[in-house]
Amino acid sequence: MAYDPNNVFARILRGEIPAQKIYEDEFALAFHDINPLAPVHALVIPKGPYVAFDDFAATAGDTGIAGFFRAVRKTAELLGVSQDGFRLLANNGANAHQEVPHFHVHIFGGRSLGAMLPRPRS
Ligand code: AMP
Repeated sequence: MAYDPNNVFARILRGEIPAQKIYEDEFALAFHDINPLAPVHALVIPKGPYVAFDDFAATAGDTGIAGFFRAVRKTAELLGVSQDGFRLLANNGANAHQEVPHFHVHIFGGRSLGAMLPRPRS
């Protein structure tokens, strides 16, 4: 899938759409999710044009990958969820219902988050 430069996170990176920023460095931008599913729900995105995790892990340079995940850690620290715990989630593609085609990691926290996924009914 080709990268769509007009996806909503590309527009946030260009400053065309506002975001509630938490952290920014040369590798990543972190901001609050517009439709939070937990008391803490943040998104961290790389600055480069990567469609999804698969694209990012395959094509970003080692420095960019390391910088991105350090930024995820820093964001969790700034949000105050490191001690009590938090969940990272990255939806990749159709089966995961990825909505925005720019790689992003969700950070959830601020309460006990329950089961990882609902169990299938037998
Ligand atoms: P995903 O299904 O992993 O692609 O999730 C995309 C996430 O982006 C959803 O949780 C949305 O609520 C969030 N989102 C969409 N537009 C915005 C926006 N303008 N600012 C912040 N979060 C957004």
